[in-house]
Amino acid sequence: MKATAEPAATPGSPEFAERQGKALRVHARLCAEYGAPFRFFSTKDPLSELISALLSHRTKNADSHRAFQQLRAAFPSWEEVRDAPTPAVEAAISACTWPEQKAPRIQAVLREISRRCGDESRPPCSLDFLADLPIPEARAWLESIPGVGPKTSAATLLFSSLRRPAMPVDSHHHRVAQRLELIGPKVGEGPAHALLAALLPPGWDAQQVYDHHEALMFHGQKCCYFHSPACHRCVVLSECPFGQSRVKM
Ligand code: SF4
Repeated sequence: MKATAEPAATPGSPEFAERQGKALRVHARLCAEYGAPFRFFSTKDPLSELISALLSHRTKNADSHRAFQQLRAAFPSWEEVRDAPTPAVEAAISACTWPEQKAPRIQAVLREISRRCGDESRPPCSLDFLADLPIPEARAWLESIPGVGPKTSAATLLFSSLRRPAMPVDSHHHRVAQRLELIGPKVGEGPAHALLAALLPPGWDAQQVYDHHEALMFHGQKCCYFHSPACHRCVVLSECPFGQSRVKM
């Protein structure tokens, strides 16, 4: 979805405070509904998580997991992935969507990381140093790599062994947030990251941020469907103008 210039609620304004309050009420209800705290699904190192996140774009979890496993089986090191003929990488990740786009992108990302580590011919360095940077700097470092957007940078920091409190926004999370009016109707997935993160308490730890993301994502998967959301059984109907207008119909 495209980014928009839609004005955001200004921090400190009554509208912003209302959205913050709603985000916390929704968090509490959805965490109770879906059984938070949720177990982290990944223990990958941050570089592996970055590659996994690149594979996962618009791909079912099972398929991107299979693509990652097959890539690791075909090329035991990231250096080998970087230097392999692109068609061989494409074949290894054929289980995910758009392998013809993702293979050269992954290789370019690995080349860029090697370059930043000081030598394009050396193995891509560990990204463990991101543990020591403030979150905005860690995200900026990742997002300045061509092909890495806010969802990928947040996933790398939160889902990996780094366990940093950076929140990804996937399509389910985005749809639920839009219908609840936590963000405006024209805000795309990319810009939604900063707007939704700003609504969370700044002191939240990685588990709390993870629970928030997972709870909204589960809600999108299990109730707030893209087509025909099940508003009549939704635990946050009282917070949702979109759902209330549908239920009245
Ligand atoms: S009331 Fe309907 S549209 Fe609103 S969050 Fe619930 S399921 Fe989604």
